[in-house]
Amino acid sequence: MTDFSRSEREIDLEERTRRFVREVVIPYESDRRLTAHGPAPGLVQELRAAARAAGLLAPQVAPQWGGQGLDHRETATVLRAAGYSLLGPVAMNCMAPDEGNMHLLQKVATPEQQQRFLAPLAAGQVRSAFLMSEPDGGAGSDPGMLATTARRVGGDWVIDGRKWLITGAVGASFGIVMARTHGEKATMFLTPMDAPGITVERVLETLDEAIPGGHAVIRLEGLRVPASLVLGEVDEGFRYAQVRLAPARLTHCMRWWGAAQRCHDVAVDYACRRRAFGKPLIEHEGVGFMLARNEVDLRQAQLLTDWAAWTLDQGSRATTESSMAKMECAEKLFGVVDRCVQVLGGLGITGDTPVARIYRELRAFRIYDGPTEVHLWSLARRLQRNHARAQAAPAPG
Ligand SMILES: Cc1cc2nc3c(=O)[nH]c(=O)nc-3n(C[C@H](O)[C@H](O)[C@H](O)COP(=O)(O)OP(=O)(O)OC[C@H]3O[C@@H](n4cnc5c(N)ncnc54)[C@H](O)[C@@H]3O)c2cc1C
Repeated sequence: MTDFSRSEREIDLEERTRRFVREVVIPYESDRRLTAHGPAPGLVQELRAAARAAGLLAPQVAPQWGGQGLDHRETATVLRAAGYSLLGPVAMNCMAPDEGNMHLLQKVATPEQQQRFLAPLAAGQVRSAFLMSEPDGGAGSDPGMLATTARRVGGDWVIDGRKWLITGAVGASFGIVMARTHGEKATMFLTPMDAPGITVERVLETLDEAIPGGHAVIRLEGLRVPASLVLGEVDEGFRYAQVRLAPARLTHCMRWWGAAQRCHDVAVDYACRRRAFGKPLIEHEGVGFMLARNEVDLRQAQLLTDWAAWTLDQGSRATTESSMAKMECAEKLFGVVDRCVQVLGGLGITGDTPVARIYRELRAFRIYDGPTEVHLWSLARRLQRNHARAQAAPAPG
């Protein structure tokens, strides 16, 4: 039976995170070091120093890497509180793609690789990138279209290809590169991002602007990676992508939930105070119902995330659960924020509240970590497979 009981430390961490975000992080939202490609490195380090001092850096990682070793359910509570400001997850070192990379390195990397790459990442000293998606008709919704190749040359692997939409690549200290090795098989490789053979072609202009380094197009040309930097086993890259994917897409649900709740708070406050046609906006059914719908959607998104996180905590891969949660959170939370823009009227379009900014940032969540349509399509395929299995099974008795 699903158990959502909360531990003492979960409640304590939630409260401390809430206070930290409101008192320390939110004042930085008007900092001049915020750029079109995320907060500048100096600002990231300043925020992290504050989170470190508050004992809130990377709470999701194991204690041996400086975290609190939270389970997925506890992580959900804390990351929701962190997401109340777009800068919260940056400060607390639990943002994408680093959070997903930390999870993968804890699960799959060798002790030597962990010391070299995971230790400074978890300590918030460096950033990382995950290089999977490709332009030119390569990997996207369908990872099987991976075109980047890695071939063995002596003791090294030599990687060639192009990647795009690579979050945080500029300024990252290292990356995890997915490349085709044998036939249908792919392998993950660790590489310093300043290695010869890696070129940043350009940083894309995007709707979202919150992640340090933005999203880049990367050329890999004769990139040499020693065999010691293969992440896990050769040819197991797609399997490890799944290890990374389920928790990583859930942490997006958690952080974006916090951002949507912030918008909802702003909209409720406005609707209770602003008057039109002789009464507060919230008393007009058209507005009150939008806010009531928000309340229900936020609760549903929270419950779905907690359910998928709890399923992961039971040792399941939670592939279906995390897929359902990701898809529904992306759609529901975007709907919540869209309604908040509407409730705020002209103010919702301006930068005078955080709502317009969060609206722009949240849009991409319906596309990355699997577009909504791909999740629905894959759930439908599962239904079909189950149906076929049931039909083929011998009749009872
Ligand atoms: C902000 C952002 C950050 C990202 N960061 C990274 C990163 O750090 N590293 C990385 O490797 N990648 C990253 N990506 C890339 C992301 O993973 C891809 O955008 C995603 O996998 C979709 O691939 P695509 O863009 O090629 O869309 P396509 O594969 O071209 O699909 C386009 C659309 O077709 C539809 N579609 C596709 N397949 C189906 C189907 N089976 N059924 C129904 N409809 C379908 C969907 O509506 C989909 O949105 C990022 C993307 C964004 C937007």
